[in-house]
Formats: sequence, C-alpha cells, structure tokens
Amino acid sequence: MATKLTGRVVHPDDPDYSEARTNLNLYRSKFPGVIVFCQDEMDVLNALKYAREKDIPFRVRSGRHSYQNFSILNKGLVIDISEMTKVSVNVNRNTSDIEAGADLGHVYQSLWKYGRALPGGTEYSVGLAGLTLGGGIGYLSRIFGLTCDNLLGVRIVIPKGEDSAQVVEATRWKNRELFWACCGGGGGNFGIVTQFKFRVHPIDTVSIYRMEWDFDQLEKAYDAWQNWAPFTDEKLTSSIELHAKSQNLIFSEGQYVGSKEELKKLLKPLVKETDPRKIQIATVPFNKAFDYFNYPAGNEPAYFKRSGSFIYEPIPERGIQIMKKFLENTPNENASIWQQSLAGKVQSVSPTETAFYHRNALIAQEYNTTWNKGEDAKDFVEWVVALRKHMSPYTKGDYVNWPDLSIRDWPTSYYGENFDRLRKVKTRIDPMNVFNFKQSIPPFWR
Ligand SMILES: Cc1cc2nc3c(=O)[nH]c(=O)nc-3n(C[C@H](O)[C@H](O)[C@H](O)COP(=O)(O)OP(=O)(O)OC[C@H]3O[C@@H](n4cnc5c(N)ncnc54)[C@H](O)[C@@H]3O)c2cc1C
Repeated sequence: MATKLTGRVVHPDDPDYSEARTNLNLYRSKFPGVIVFCQDEMDVLNALKYAREKDIPFRVRSGRHSYQNFSILNKGLVIDISEMTKVSVNVNRNTSDIEAGADLGHVYQSLWKYGRALPGGTEYSVGLAGLTLGGGIGYLSRIFGLTCDNLLGVRIVIPKGEDSAQVVEATRWKNRELFWACCGGGGGNFGIVTQFKFRVHPIDTVSIYRMEWDFDQLEKAYDAWQNWAPFTDEKLTSSIELHAKSQNLIFSEGQYVGSKEELKKLLKPLVKETDPRKIQIATVPFNKAFDYFNYPAGNEPAYFKRSGSFIYEPIPERGIQIMKKFLENTPNENASIWQQSLAGKVQSVSPTETAFYHRNALIAQEYNTTWNKGEDAKDFVEWVVALRKHMSPYTKGDYVNWPDLSIRDWPTSYYGENFDRLRKVKTRIDPMNVFNFKQSIPPFWR
C-alpha cells in the first residue's frame, strides 16, 4: 500500500503556508509544494518513504537557518522536524537525549533546569540539528569542544533499498562510520536525524565581558585580540566584531567559566595594548550569559549574505588593512566582520578523528551583510565575495555550517582530507543519492 504523509501537513493554499515556508534568509526564498511537520519518528519514516515511492525531490529542515536555504526547495517536499523537541537529562551520567527538532534556546533552557550545559552557538532559534551535524561553534568551545565533540549517538532515518526507509542508531561503537560523518560532515547529507544523545556539563555561574573601541583603533584592537584570544586560558572563549566605519564600533565579548577576578587578570594584555572606550565585566548565572549572547535580531527573518572562513595564523598588517578598507566602504551600515576564537579543546581532537576538519584553525570568521526589501542584493553579495577574495591569502578552508555557493572548491574547503571518507559513507548509506542539494556529498559514481 502506498505510504501517506503523517504529521501536520501544510499546502500552498493553507493559511499558515507563508509562515511554514519562510526560512531565516529571505534572499532567494523558496516555495515548496508541501511541508510536513513531523511529530514523531514514524512521521519522519513515512515522509522519507513517501518521497521515495513518489520520486519527489525533498529537503530536511529543522531550525531554518541555512545561509543558502539548503533546507528548502521549490515545488518538492520539506520534511520539517522542528515540532519534535523533547529534552531529557540524566544527571547522574551527565547525558541528555534531545529530539533533533529542538532549537538552541529550548535546549539551553531545558538543560539549565538541571544545572547543565551543552556547548553550542548563540542565537536561540538556530536548530540543534544543523548546528551539530556541521560542528557547532560557540562560547563554550574552547573549554568543552564543539557541539559535535559532545555527541554520543544519533537515531537517524536513512534510505533502504529501492524506495523505502529505515531507522538506525549510530554511535562510536555501532554504525561507526556514519557516526563519524555526523560529527561535522554537514546536515542533509545522509539521512534525517530524529534524536541526539549528548554528554552535558555541570555549570553554575560564569563571567562575561564586553569591551568597545572606536573605529580608528581597529588595527591595534584587532591585532591585540587575534594574538591573545586563541592562546589565552581555554576556559575563556571570545569574539570580536568589526563594524562598518559609519557605526564607529568595534567590540569584543567573551565568556569565562570562572570568577570575575580571574577574568580581569586574563583580560589585562588586551586592555594594556589597546585603548578601550568601555569595559564591562560581570559574573552571572549561566542562563543570564546565554541570554546575553542571544541577539534577538539574529532570530528574525532578514535578507542577508554571509560567508566565512578559518584563520590558521594571525593576520599580518596587510590583511588587517584590507579588512579596514572594506569596512570603510560598505554597502550599508549593517556590514561587519565577526570572528570567534577556537583552539583549546577544539584543537585537542585531530582533523580526521571526526568529520569536522579544521581543528587547527585559531579563529572562525564571517563576513556579514543584511539589507532591507527593495535594496539591491547585488551590492551586498559583491561586497562579501570581493572581501572573501581579498582576504583569501590570509584564510584557509570554510565552515560547512556557513555554506556559500560561490565557494568553488567546497569539498576541500569544507572537508579537507576527510572528503573521500565522507563519500565512502555516502556511497554505503545513500548510494542512490536520495539526499542531495547543491554542495551535498556525492556518492562515488556521481
Ligand atoms: C543567525 C545565525 C546564527 C548562527 N550562529 C551560529 C553559531 O553561534 N555557531 C555555529 O556553529 N553556527 C551558527 N550558525 C550557523 C548554523 O550552525 C547553521 O546555519 C546550521 O546549519 C543551522 O541549522 P538549522 O537546523 O537551524 O538550519 P536548517 O536550515 O533547518 O538546516 C541546515 C542544514 O541541516 C540539514 N538538517 C536540518 N535538520 C536536519 C536533521 N534533522 N537531520 C539531518 N539534516 C538536517 C538541512 O537539510 C540543511 O542542509 C548561525 C546561523 C545563523 C543564521
């Protein structure tokens, strides 16, 4: 008997279609033929079977944050798991089972009730699924590793035979290669994750800081930050954002798992070498800290072009001048360059131990633009593409969670020497390339 879609099904003529189809990035938005909001694993299984039996193109979606809208398509089926959000915690074992549709805000709040934390990203509406499968960088990375470094297992719906589907578990001991691929190989490539098991960390209070400089301090502030942030105590993870000149704002923020006094000491080199116009330091319960790093604007749908890369060595004076030039000539005042420190625990795992390859990078960085309806997207896209190109001598590799269709050598850029192994996993799990989109991992015969 033919499989039917089960769960909450939304069609284009339904009143909630517009909300149901809208992803975070409004630039090049898409119009699917049907969206199924799965309520449990059986709905996911049925959705994949349905798509395969009918030979309908489909995409998998969770938090809707894909920069390139890889989680949505025109005409086909969107298998959305964002209504599967249960979180349970085992405090004795420090583990948590989390349904894969949960977003970061829900995960952080749920774990905090038990005094536990999972290292993840900042904005609340980012989906745990996409974030984890591509790596997961955030303000606890240097002390607890990437989100995927804390992954213990997944339940995942994968293709079976000619036109069916099955649920499998993957852990370090079972379906090991698939598990390896789920730790940084990128979302949407192998199957639909329905549940994660994570190691979680006891946490209580943390200390956070914010430091600000005028734009004319850019060279000094940036150089001091980049030579300090990846090398300081690994309990401290920080970021710096260089804004368009018209904003006259450069700021650094960070989170230290320890006291305010210790943090003050750690910040000394940064303060001594620069001339911050403002410094704020506070010790707060951990829930206040993740609330602080969640910028509400980042959760609202917007028109944007973002791209990123990794930095393996401090950027020399020439590269810093290029960043400055671009920030003096932005298409509007919202353009910025944002960077976060890595190393610490991220570097304690080898580049091939998980599918997340860029273990030895010191910094992850993004070039950001946002614009309003009616403004010409071309100006913003060109600014990002040109900045990428000019900075390429000083950067190496890209983060699969910040995908960019303008990256031509994306297999090497995202995955380095892990790409071949990922293709082997793909060939075994999804030989017919059922899960495919621009920049998805191809099986060997594609
Ligand atoms: C405002 C904003 C803030 C961000 N902050 C951070 C940050 O702090 N740290 C960081 O590391 N990254 C960050 N990111 C990047 C983020 O990690 C990626 O965009 C990630 O892919 C988002 O996942 P999602 O589930 O929200 O998105 P979606 O668009 O739903 O999915 C992203 C990809 O994962 C696939 N996918 C989704 N659900 C599943 C599933 N259940 N099984 C298999 N594949 C699935 C999709 O098919 C798609 O290819 C941010 C992005 C934005 C837009």
